[in-house]
Amino acid sequence: MEEYTKVTELFGCDVFNDSVMKARLPGKVYKELKKIMAEGGELSMEVADVVAHEMKEWAIDKGATHFTHWFQPLTGVTAEKHDAFITAPREDGKVLMSFSGKELIKGEPDASSFPSGGLRATFEARGYTTWDCTSPAFVRHDAAGGILCIPTAFCSYTGEALDQKTPLLRSMEAINTQALRLLRLFGNTTSKRVIPSVGAEQEYFLIDKEKWRQRKDLIYTGRTLFGAMPPKGQEMDDHYLGTIRQRVSAYMKEVNEECWRLGVTAKTQHNEVAPAQHELAPIFAPANIAADQNQIMMRILKKVASRRGMRCLLHEKPFAGLNGSGKHNNWSLTTDDGINLLEPGKTPHENIQFLLVLTCILRAVDLHADLLREAAADVGNDQRLGGQEAPPAVISVFLGEQLEDVLEQLISTGTATHSKHGEKLETGVKTLPDFMKDATDRNRTSPFAFTGNKFEFRMVGSNDSISTCNVVLNTIAAESFRDACDRLEAAPDFAMAVHDLIKEYATEHQRIVFNGNGYAPEWAEEAKRRGLPNLPSMVDAIPALTTDRAVKLFEDFGVFTRAELESRAEIQYEVYAKAINIEAKTMIDMATKQIIPAVIHYTTVLANSVNAVKAAGAIDVSVQMDLLKKTSRLLKSANSAMSKLAKLTEQVNSNPEGRERALFMREKIVPAMEGLREPVDELEMLVDKDMWPIPSYGDLIFDV
Ligand code: ADP
Ligand code: MG
Repeated sequence: MEEYTKVTELFGCDVFNDSVMKARLPGKVYKELKKIMAEGGELSMEVADVVAHEMKEWAIDKGATHFTHWFQPLTGVTAEKHDAFITAPREDGKVLMSFSGKELIKGEPDASSFPSGGLRATFEARGYTTWDCTSPAFVRHDAAGGILCIPTAFCSYTGEALDQKTPLLRSMEAINTQALRLLRLFGNTTSKRVIPSVGAEQEYFLIDKEKWRQRKDLIYTGRTLFGAMPPKGQEMDDHYLGTIRQRVSAYMKEVNEECWRLGVTAKTQHNEVAPAQHELAPIFAPANIAADQNQIMMRILKKVASRRGMRCLLHEKPFAGLNGSGKHNNWSLTTDDGINLLEPGKTPHENIQFLLVLTCILRAVDLHADLLREAAADVGNDQRLGGQEAPPAVISVFLGEQLEDVLEQLISTGTATHSKHGEKLETGVKTLPDFMKDATDRNRTSPFAFTGNKFEFRMVGSNDSISTCNVVLNTIAAESFRDACDRLEAAPDFAMAVHDLIKEYATEHQRIVFNGNGYAPEWAEEAKRRGLPNLPSMVDAIPALTTDRAVKLFEDFGVFTRAELESRAEIQYEVYAKAINIEAKTMIDMATKQIIPAVIHYTTVLANSVNAVKAAGAIDVSVQMDLLKKTSRLLKSANSAMSKLAKLTEQVNSNPEGRERALFMREKIVPAMEGLREPVDELEMLVDKDMWPIPSYGDLIFDV
């Protein structure tokens, strides 16, 4: 692995990017590949062979010995199978290094062990990975040496998507087609493509590896299943944007360098709200690249932590009562020639194209709020949504003062005549310059907030793929654009028609706009009055995938077939049930083998102390007795809660797999888990710290 001192040299040094292609590929081949990257189409085998050869030569120069088709099955993690470049030995016993166009374009991993939700029986195990040439290949270095990673999509023998990427690419096509139609209506004849741009801000926790090792809940489930709040939590707000500790700074430096090598634009890093919580954000990129790069980033975050004696927790809620981790998905629509469709300009009320795009998105989110909510459904996110510093499970849109005002003018008078402007911000200090405020303040409580020239979807869980929510955003926006274009293209008077349409959309979908405090309990009431769906748990959200409306939407745009949607719903139910089952079993394991024995030990020590103190002639042993009674009472509750949970977990498999089992988990197992946690957390506050068998929250979050 080469060493570089300058970031400009380091950046992208392990990526088969444009400059490498330009330098290595023959002109004609380079041109053809670029054309396909820009416009789609199929690569000829001759071209593929040349590209593969050059890619291999380059990768070998970088120290690669293997290649892999790197893909994102529905397991929630990435998958890969490494193949060495070596050929069968020749007569002289030596091998060559080879890599063909066919190997570059198509792979055939055995698909039978990946979740397919009934799409494919094990006897129909064929699955194919195909190169996504719009996302660059890269050489990853780790203990396995250098591996050439080729980003691919993963489909079944019959063409059904078995991964996250395929529907994302399909949805990008859908939004491209409809957004171009819309641009043409406004006289744009030059833009060739509209690309959804995405920047995903990644939150994570860092804890000490030795302490992590002592907690089976963290090892098996990624979150703490027991744990009392330490005397200090996040209430002092002293961690957010606070000074980054040296150990963490050194970690961040290494993460950045690894990201940069692979062309991931790690840009902004800071401490987050909870102690031990941090964030890393890249610069936005086309949605499919952003999704790939987020996977790369998550892997680097984990790998570097491990190397430096820490663990990076990507779970959405590692610690009850503290801020959870999300992944803010910033989304906008940009043309190949640099126009952002979500840029309002200085006077949004005059920007008719922007107002149409905006009201189309309001319509899209209002019509498909349930789907957008579903896109953030993830087992861990159930713990996070609606909790400390996380958006509620109700979808609404924050527009900010300026746009809300424009919208109100539109709705009440039919025409917007002015836009509110930011006033001068006076600092009151002579040596500080006064400056113009933004026209709009921020609202951190909204799940879907307009932030200047993009929307920020804040619901996604930190561990989840960002593909799902972008598939939904792209497709629902495409549908509203299509509706608008169908009507406007047929209208005799465009100016009049567009004016009426904007007013209509704004009026009809006004209920989705909410600029208030999304964390306030009154909002849930208000949302109910407005008829907005409130789907608190993943199990409640999954049915949104297979409603007739969703099936029609996705089939219309060729993003998902009904069968694909049904299979995804099935997988979601399975994932949910399995994850909760593991959590329940882990709790039982920890309670049986660690916590209850420790408490018994403590009560014995207390009892002995009572006797010893009495024997020594003291009269008052009331303190010891009180503690002994209290501890024994809680011990009894914990033990019976555990028996209850254990009994229930024995019934899990008698519920048919799928929705029924998932419901059983949510309705029976989850409350029983809470029932066990409660007395155990109380015990933790009583029992001698030296006897408590696992590191406390305080140990975990204040001592990295
Ligand atoms: P904020 O502080 O408002 O969240 P930032 O500038 O920090 O805004 O951006 C957060 C993320 O949004 C970054 O990943 C950034 O690259 C991304 N982003 C900025 N502009 C856009 C855009 N037009 N489309 C998509 N993502 C964007
Ligand atoms: Mg942000």
